[in-house]
Amino acid sequence: VGTLSVGSVASPRGAALDEAARRVIPGGANTVTRWIGSPYAFTGADGAYVTDADGRRYLDYHAAFGAVLLGHNHPVVNQAVISAITDRPDLIGLGITELEIEMAELLTSVIPSAEQAVTVMSGSEAVAHSIRMARAVTGRPLLVKFQGTYHGWSDSVARNMISPPERAYGRDPLSAGILDAVLDATVIAEFNDLDSVRALYEAHPEQIAAVILEPIPHNVGALLPTQEFVEGLRTLTREQGSLLIFDEVITGFRHSLGGYQQVCGVLPDLTTYGKAMGNGFPVSGLAGRRELMERFDTAGGDVLMAGTFNGNRVSAAATIATVSYLRDHPDFYERTHRLGQRMRDGLAALLAENGISASVSGFGGTFNVYFVAPPVRGYRDLLRNDARAYVTFHRRMTDKGFLMLPIALKRNHVSGSHTDEDIERTLDAAGAVLKEMAA
Ligand code: PLP
Repeated sequence: VGTLSVGSVASPRGAALDEAARRVIPGGANTVTRWIGSPYAFTGADGAYVTDADGRRYLDYHAAFGAVLLGHNHPVVNQAVISAITDRPDLIGLGITELEIEMAELLTSVIPSAEQAVTVMSGSEAVAHSIRMARAVTGRPLLVKFQGTYHGWSDSVARNMISPPERAYGRDPLSAGILDAVLDATVIAEFNDLDSVRALYEAHPEQIAAVILEPIPHNVGALLPTQEFVEGLRTLTREQGSLLIFDEVITGFRHSLGGYQQVCGVLPDLTTYGKAMGNGFPVSGLAGRRELMERFDTAGGDVLMAGTFNGNRVSAAATIATVSYLRDHPDFYERTHRLGQRMRDGLAALLAENGISASVSGFGGTFNVYFVAPPVRGYRDLLRNDARAYVTFHRRMTDKGFLMLPIALKRNHVSGSHTDEDIERTLDAAGAVLKEMAA
């Protein structure tokens, strides 16, 4: 000990920073899963690369949990932020600014289901607002969530993400301190299994306010929805008088300009956004139909919508720059999807070559290896995932200079800065790691 590490490579400066951090920050990290058994201290980032405190460069597939989409320190986004704050009012806290209007006009023009949009500071807030809205609109108490999805830290949804078999589909809070009554107001279904949702409607008639889902549950890698499932959810929620909420905090802007709803053609009532929309600057959003959004008290309605820093200049400028860049570069998605596919195909070939039973998954620029035989359709299949092999693969890739978060079921991201050559180098390294693992 003494030389703690990034991956398992010694990192003396990282260890020193970790020690200093632990004195003043609980556990030495500002959010859960940043400290994961070895201290991660980074001092630089540029394009597809990050540099650690000891000067080692990593090709970054972690991408800040997907918040970095165009690449680190993107000059267009950085310049927009600098221009927006130079000689301008910093924060007034009354009324509206032109940048906020421009941001909402842009969001509503590219998100298929959005007639109005509000912006907040985190995905968790956007989700909490959407749940409260659903309860207000329907007058019903319950929320349907799927085993394996994550929707932020708020009490209604902080449960049942990577649950062990005995707690999957039951009560599995992510935190102490959540009231039982709140836990009981969220009921759990199986992703890609419409019958499991129907069963909840039968068990709780006229009690379900909303069904919330990550259209691709990326918090357990990349479970791909069947078209029948997303269309079925739309029909069922409509028939039952509930709202359908797409949590596109990861899929939004990453998989297409209009999010996964544009890909699958199914329009939710409310959508939450975050992460990639500001390319690393803090911003999230909630969008939906006008008659729902006008229930917010900002429009004279009865649903509280608040936040001191909402719509601040830095977040607005970063969002406008990122989303406009994506809109004006339609080849962006063609390119990241092609590189993502190349990675997935390459990994599948290497796994087969080494006789390792695994399933390669992902969509667009995301990729993921589940160490479980296919097919992987829902969380039930992931209960067979070999978590140790998953973490070993990611950790050994990180040791070789390819940053992949070594936590079971975390996905990887190709950004706008990765190149064909990067993918080739990654596959070469993956081939060596998988060969070692197969030996
Ligand atoms: N929704 C999804 C799908 C997420 O992945 C996350 C964060 O990882 C959140 C909501 C919460 O967002 P934030 O961490 O910005 O509060």
